[in-house]
Amino acid sequence: MEKQAVDGARRAFNSGRSRPLQYRKQQLSALLRLIRERQAEIVSALKRDISRSEFDTPIFELIGIENDIKLAERNLADWMAPQPVKKTLLTITDDVYIKAEPLGVVLIIGAWNYPWSLTLRPLVGAIAAGNAAVVKPSEVSKSSASLLKELLPQYLDTEMYPVVTGGVPETQELLKQRFDHIFYTGNSTVGKLVMEAAARHLAPVTLELGGKSPCYIDKDCDIAVACRRITWGKFANCGQTCIAPDYILCHPNIQHRVIEEIRQTLLEEIFGPVLPIVTAGDVNEVIRFINERPKPLALYVFSSNKKVVRRMLNETTSGGVLVNDVMVHYTINALPFGGVGNSGVGRYHGKHTFDQLSHHRACLIKSLVVEFSFSFLTIFIDLPLMFLLEHCVIS
Ligand code: NAD
Repeated sequence: MEKQAVDGARRAFNSGRSRPLQYRKQQLSALLRLIRERQAEIVSALKRDISRSEFDTPIFELIGIENDIKLAERNLADWMAPQPVKKTLLTITDDVYIKAEPLGVVLIIGAWNYPWSLTLRPLVGAIAAGNAAVVKPSEVSKSSASLLKELLPQYLDTEMYPVVTGGVPETQELLKQRFDHIFYTGNSTVGKLVMEAAARHLAPVTLELGGKSPCYIDKDCDIAVACRRITWGKFANCGQTCIAPDYILCHPNIQHRVIEEIRQTLLEEIFGPVLPIVTAGDVNEVIRFINERPKPLALYVFSSNKKVVRRMLNETTSGGVLVNDVMVHYTINALPFGGVGNSGVGRYHGKHTFDQLSHHRACLIKSLVVEFSFSFLTIFIDLPLMFLLEHCVIS
């Protein structure tokens, strides 16, 4: 079953039909129709899977997919066009450019907490880049997985974009097959298994993993605003978001104020995720604390002090960093989204997904003009010479 799906996708890719701009745009607009026409079914599948509210589904899940599709539809012709590079004296008469071309068959393995976004946003990039793709949604969000399996073939090229459902055995069976790229979202332990499987075929990977995302609240900031934003980020999707703030770092002098502000924000709510608060003396200690741990997926800094902000940006690292807010960098598809070190490999969203799932081919088309000019010049030099020689010999 898994092998059949991969073989079919490879056959479809080898047919060449996913390459033309028109095909890619047609598949993208079909995917957009799916999202819009079947929204009610998607909402109720998510209600069954993770009890997501009707209001949250478009915001947390569908708008990002729609924006990526619309961006690709508008810009795909430019993205696919050869990108000329600066010429040198040696290449002055040549064509020298970079051409984004499809990689082949991509495997997309999704996670349960955002089951539509985490499978379909990579798929948008795979289609835009001209690839075939095998989509493996998470078995944990069972209703979404089976709805995706039912809906995708009604809108997209079935052979080119098959959906394989199932759990660990099915995913492991898929991982035995040869892919040209594997795009995985989930935990780091399985991420390592995915990378091992990809290594057997020297396939590149994108690994969108977890990772503790620290939240630093400086003494010099609007603590009420900081706490409101942090609490929203921590409680969105019941805390099940990869870039949710994991813990707060703050000075002991403001710890009580932070607790009080968070308590005020949560007055309706009695259940929720745990938000640890760690105290640190000064910004040096905060930076040391962060740098002693694996590289985070996101880092949040709340401060009005430019020097503190600059130091936090320059002296730490993370997949993404946000000053005076949390999580909203995810919604800006001009920004690359991804981790670093333990929090992931590669990046996506918007054009970054297209780039991630393309091969950027170096193209140099030598012109024969120079060769021709040389030959032409030699005619002018050689002919009189021959004439002279001949003349001398005869006389
Ligand atoms: P999950 O249980 O849904 O698993 C993810 C995928 O891995 C599934 O499709 C599943 O079938 C497959 N899988 C599970 N075990 C496997 C195995 N042994 N071999 C092969 N495949 C296997 O999700 P999860 O792993 O619990 O995901 C939660 C983690 O993902 C959290 O750490 C979270 O932070 C992270 N996450 C990261 C992002 C991101 O964008 N960086 C987004 C969402 C979640």
